[in-house]
Amino acid sequence: MHSPYRKGRKQGKGERRSLLNAAAFQDHMARLISLPSGGAGPVSTSGVVQVRRTASSRGGADEGKGRDEGEVVGRGHRLTLAQKYGLVSAPRSKLDEYEWMQAHAQSVQREDVKHGCPICYEDFKGEDRVLLSCSHMFHKHCLRSFERFTKQKCCPICRTLQYQKRVVTNAKELYEEDCATCIQKYYRRRLAQKRYKVALAMRVPNDEKERQEWCATRFSETNNKLIERLEEEDDSIERLLADLDRKIFFSRTAREIADTSLREPRDDRGAEDSSAASNGKGAGHPKEEKREIDWEGLKSKARKRKDKTCPICIGPLARKLRGDIALLSCSHCFHEDCIHLFELFQQAEDSKPICPLCRCEYEKKVIPNTEL
Ligand SMILES: [Zn+2]
Ligand SMILES: [Zn+2]
Ligand SMILES: [Zn+2]
Ligand SMILES: [Zn+2]
Repeated sequence: MHSPYRKGRKQGKGERRSLLNAAAFQDHMARLISLPSGGAGPVSTSGVVQVRRTASSRGGADEGKGRDEGEVVGRGHRLTLAQKYGLVSAPRSKLDEYEWMQAHAQSVQREDVKHGCPICYEDFKGEDRVLLSCSHMFHKHCLRSFERFTKQKCCPICRTLQYQKRVVTNAKELYEEDCATCIQKYYRRRLAQKRYKVALAMRVPNDEKERQEWCATRFSETNNKLIERLEEEDDSIERLLADLDRKIFFSRTAREIADTSLREPRDDRGAEDSSAASNGKGAGHPKEEKREIDWEGLKSKARKRKDKTCPICIGPLARKLRGDIALLSCSHCFHEDCIHLFELFQQAEDSKPICPLCRCEYEKKVIPNTEL
């Protein structure tokens, strides 16, 4: 038997409880949508107490400056009455490293980076990005703008309230790596395409008719290549021959000029020799007498050395035509016309005649080649 009083008391307790619940829930919702209430001020969805607007905005500015990867946003949880009663789920405690890894793995699996930032639809590129505890990823500045605009922390994709976020600071490195991979991918694809084309062209078909066609194509290609090559070589031979012709022409003209210039000094020397002979002396120059050059000794020295070629023209010293030899005071022997031409060159350069072999100044004596 229950007395009406007891029953009334029980009912009153239940009513009070449901009244409290309703009030707690109302308070929670009011705080959620940031309505002014008589309580301890608005509570953000992440549980961060927003005591003053300035404090929260200052916190936002600091967020961008010095926070490294891994520092979790969201401090100073204060539960509402509804959360304490269990009417609304309490904000999650800070995610540990393993949970963050799981969130990141989910993001990688969904290829969030490839799809770009869901707020601005731009690629992430090298810009800073944030990973939320719900595993969604955004540009850091985009999410900050979104939070400012909505005045609450609610994931723009999955509507998760009370999320935590961390900045991915190595975004630039990741982006560079992605770019490098992309370039490599295209380069490899291009190479593979080239190789495939070559391989395809070299594959012998199984069908008889196709094989005949393949052979004909291969043969004509090889033939064309051969003809092209031959034409190229013909060109080069013609060029070489033309070059040779030109060089021979220059040599001939040079030789003719030398011959005409040689005739005059030889006549002079003939006159000089005759005057020297009339004086009864071997050499034509008075200076040679003074220095008393031992021409016989030099001759025997040259004979001992067995000089057979003229070092200027590399031809044999004993020639039938223009057979005179110039014996220098350094004992070196040259064709008379060769050393004369060499002297002309040196005169043109305003330098004293020096022996082409030993580079010393000399006096010369012309002797017939039979004397060596
Ligand atoms: Zn964005
Ligand atoms: Zn989300
Ligand atoms: Zn010579
Ligand atoms: Zn010499």
